Amino acid sequence: MAHLPFLAHVNFELVRVADLKCRRIYSEMNTDDWWCDTQDQLRAGVTIGPVICASDKTHLPNFSPNQNAWPLYLTIGNIRKGIRHTPNKRAWILVRLISCPPKGAKNTDGAWHSTVGTVLSPLRNPDITGPGLIWDYADGFQRQCYPLLAAWVRDYPEQVMVAQVSYGSCLMCEIPKG
Ligand SMILES: [Zn+2]
Repeated sequence: MAHLPFLAHVNFELVRVADLKCRRIYSEMNTDDWWCDTQDQLRAGVTIGPVICASDKTHLPNFSPNQNAWPLYLTIGNIRKGIRHTPNKRAWILVRLISCPPKGAKNTDGAWHSTVGTVLSPLRNPDITGPGLIWDYADGFQRQCYPLLAAWVRDYPEQVMVAQVSYGSCLMCEIPKG
């Protein structure tokens, strides 16, 4: 949010957008229900920093000691999607390359969760009644900000591992398989 080249492409506050027939338009993260519901729980005037993570298991070259690794990427929902989706704008940062336990290790998922838990520990149990973090923003102002984990971008096998549900289950509800 302090990155000057993004100054014109960052949203700080909730906006409700509708078309001429009063139907809500969900175009950016600050127009969606998550932002709206979360803002309702915070004190007036504070800024949400929705943290978006992404991970995807990657096969490593054969000569490396581990077969696979998970790059863990991070961005914030304040950056408008046009910029966020443009690779050469570098709105995503690689925060960790999580290596798979060596062959034969039993609990890959456990190792993954433990590493990600450590990396993201500053986001665990945020005190939304507290003062938040005072950050300098690119527009020259200081704001009170709450970085909150908002979304995880991944494919279905990755979702299963992140959410620790059995394969074939829905991540949102308890509908039976099939
Ligand atoms: Zn469902």
